[in-house]
Amino acid sequence: MAKGICTLCSGNCGIEVMVEDNKVLSVKGDKEHPISKGFTCPKGRALPEMLYAKDRLSCPMKKDENGNWHEISYEEAIDIIVEKFTYLKENFGSESLAVHTGEAGVRKQFSGHVRRFGQAYGTPNQSSAGSHCHLSKEMANKMTVGVLPSADYKNSKCIVLWGYNPMNSRPSQMMDINKAINNGAKLIVVDPQKTYTAKRADVHLQLRPGTDGALALGLIHIIIEEELYDKDFVEEWTVGFDKLVELVKDYIPEKVEKITDVPKELIVEGARIFANNKPGNISPGIAIELLSNGFQTARAISILQAIMGYIDIIGGATMSPPPPLSSLELENVKYNREPIGKSEYPLFCANYNSAQANIFSDAILEDKPYPLKGMMIIGSNPILTWPNVNKLREALKALDFLVVMDNFMTETAKMADIIIPGTFPIERYEIWNGVDSSGDGIVGLAPKLIESKQGISECKFISDIAKGMGLEEAFPWNSDEEAIGYRFQKIGKTFEEMLNMNYGYKYRTFEEKKYTKNGFNTPSKKVEIYSTTLEKSGYDPLPIYNEPAESPLSTKELAEEYPLVLSTGARYLQYYHSRYRNIESLNGYKSQEEVAKVKINPQIAERKKIKDGDMVKVESLRGSIKLKAEITEDVLPTTALISHGWNDANANELTDNENLDPISGFPPDRALLVKLTSL
Ligand code: SF4
Repeated sequence: MAKGICTLCSGNCGIEVMVEDNKVLSVKGDKEHPISKGFTCPKGRALPEMLYAKDRLSCPMKKDENGNWHEISYEEAIDIIVEKFTYLKENFGSESLAVHTGEAGVRKQFSGHVRRFGQAYGTPNQSSAGSHCHLSKEMANKMTVGVLPSADYKNSKCIVLWGYNPMNSRPSQMMDINKAINNGAKLIVVDPQKTYTAKRADVHLQLRPGTDGALALGLIHIIIEEELYDKDFVEEWTVGFDKLVELVKDYIPEKVEKITDVPKELIVEGARIFANNKPGNISPGIAIELLSNGFQTARAISILQAIMGYIDIIGGATMSPPPPLSSLELENVKYNREPIGKSEYPLFCANYNSAQANIFSDAILEDKPYPLKGMMIIGSNPILTWPNVNKLREALKALDFLVVMDNFMTETAKMADIIIPGTFPIERYEIWNGVDSSGDGIVGLAPKLIESKQGISECKFISDIAKGMGLEEAFPWNSDEEAIGYRFQKIGKTFEEMLNMNYGYKYRTFEEKKYTKNGFNTPSKKVEIYSTTLEKSGYDPLPIYNEPAESPLSTKELAEEYPLVLSTGARYLQYYHSRYRNIESLNGYKSQEEVAKVKINPQIAERKKIKDGDMVKVESLRGSIKLKAEITEDVLPTTALISHGWNDANANELTDNENLDPISGFPPDRALLVKLTSL
């Protein structure tokens, strides 16, 4: 048995892998791993099935003018890519190429290589899944408390899962959550759906999708009015509390009930439980940032947690700086143009030195702000995961050149000119990090356990293109091992030393209330309820609530024709966003038609004469899809829920890339208006 790490998602679970003759026979959890302690989810255990799937891409391919695919050698693929990238640079400028990594690249070494390549090539249009996942709430928290904290579930007395269902999206966290609940911690769930987790909660705040910001202000109102907040902390460590008092004055429970559909008694009960069971913490999920008002919603939730003084304490929201590794960013890079999105979302683009990918379609189709002619997409399937896919499909079709690297022939890969087969985690070295049971930060090196017969190392691929273009100075390493070894230089470790540490290296010991030494990592060194950074950029400095761009209250006429509030994108344990639908054991050996469903309440079903399992059409202003109806009391009569990631019932045919959050540019996938027709 070889020790390894599953890095399919950010859970980084320790695994034991049975390997024989370079073939993986089985994967099971490693009980000795200090963080995951033997846990694996079905995805991790299905790794052998993924590695040896019949439909796995196994060779670089080129599409001819008739749309037919031909296998080509790796060297030929690199030559074509180098030639095309050179052509784009010479004819349209470096900025005409965008390089993008998706969810498969989150916190992976190759994402850093892709960015570095973009910098060396000279394109400011480097983007990632962060254009619509995680970075909005991260930036909101950075501006408020200096960092996105992580919850110390195990020692908490009150856990709030807000638009977050780790049972499906981060299952390894359930060990600590269950432990805390068994030790008497309260559980509050904010979710438009009665999920399994919500059914276990002490209080389930089942809200109309998109009204999370109003609910947060309503909870703050009660906590302030009943003087339940941490007065010493607020006095010493916050700025703008007086303005917050003024802001939430009107958010009385009756008003918040009208906005959110959550009964006022439950709002009051939720606020009191959160404030009276100390310490508590809030875990906001992607749901709260995928809204046209998501950034300020994330700020309001962050402030709710902060005024309770639950920051950087055991059982609260701990401040965990990432491991101090050597950076892959090139220094003193100058671009000819600003990244796409910089004029619309300046704070987002400046904070992440990145483009905002949600508006790439406009650049491709309308040359706004300038032409985008080529894309390199690695570990991402935008056709299933980006908003307003009808427009995006047209845009990708209009590109001069598209190269995609992935494990399978995805809907996006089908549109490419060149496809390169990628690797799975244990076929490459990978850096992982996490927090152990003492709150200490650990960074480790996930070993390569087999040589891939099909996939090409993503880092090698990027490095080979760079070298083909004469950019070898930016990629001075002769191997992936050397490149990863460079990252560990800053912590004084070599590649070999890290490889010998199965359970990683402790780079930080947990310490409570670090802010008492140097303050918070904000301009004022305090929790910025009132953000001067936002004010200077022309945004509201307070965490205001705005109705979703499409809603029964903000667009009443539209709501008459499209009366249901749609939330898309709730996660399933067996998939990772759009990935692994083709893995039979994960899909329950069912067809897509059997699994892709819209969840509606029995009242809607009765009104529309729809029976469970009937095919229905769901339509928004952007497009329509057909899929089966699942009739369930788990959703409100005003709401419809569709998961994303299905080729033939693609929820992103319905979503919107115009009413984006004004600060982060995130799409409003979780609160849109739709109508439903029986077929
Ligand atoms: S939660 Fe599952 S997919 Fe994620 S790292 Fe752990 S085993 Fe792998």
